[in-house]
Amino acid sequence: MSTLAQRLDAVQQRIADAAEVAGRDPADVTLVAVSKTHAPEDVADAITAGATHFGENRVQELVAKAEVVDAPSSVQWHLIGPLQSNKAQHVVDRGWWLHGVDRTSLVDRLARVAQRPGDQRVLVQVNVGEDPAKHGCTVEEAPSLVDHAVRAGLAVRGLMTVPPLPPDGVDAATDARRHFQALRELRDRLAREHADVTELSMGMSADLEAAVAEGATMVRIGTAVFGARGTAPWQPAA
Ligand SMILES: *Cc1c(COP(=O)(O)O)cnc(C)c1O
Repeated sequence: MSTLAQRLDAVQQRIADAAEVAGRDPADVTLVAVSKTHAPEDVADAITAGATHFGENRVQELVAKAEVVDAPSSVQWHLIGPLQSNKAQHVVDRGWWLHGVDRTSLVDRLARVAQRPGDQRVLVQVNVGEDPAKHGCTVEEAPSLVDHAVRAGLAVRGLMTVPPLPPDGVDAATDARRHFQALRELRDRLAREHADVTELSMGMSADLEAAVAEGATMVRIGTAVFGARGTAPWQPAA
């Protein structure tokens, strides 16, 4: 059985190898270790092993875990899941990255409840594969949503996507690549008007190589770092 430190090293090596193939600097790819369902002790172990970015997909789990993990100031948290407008006040002004911003009503709420909207880093989630099971605006909606969020004063730093499950018989990583490419092309178009729109949050345990090949600047890796997930979110003992 490999330890968390060994698995983290192996993922860093996969990123380095994929970056080399793509002629990219591996330092331009941030590993976001996705700790959902895992205990704060596992996050602490990952910090000891050198991880500095952590992702959670549920607001409550992130709020609870960030409170109990004794993290150095170098650690950054990312909310990578959907965000309901009525939870916005729980996640703003904490220095967290919000990857799931996908509609104007949420932008407006975030801008209204934030003390410092200009410090609130957000990524616009785009459903590039038009998968009805996935969150995100469409590719067509993305430019006006980015404009809207910039005008609202939020720090819009890039785009995020979760590709659809592949059609039967098609390899997931191979299929994901065209969706990653679509997100990169969209980012490149948006960056002409918005120089701060640089980040591409894409790629998970099974397809990080394809994502790095297409320009990912943040890969969100759960299973390959922490092992198999539990069935329920972590919550503090009552
Ligand atoms: C859980 C999750 C991941 C990590 O998935 P793995 O396949 O375990 O690496 C990445 N992104 C999002 C949005 C997730 O919810």
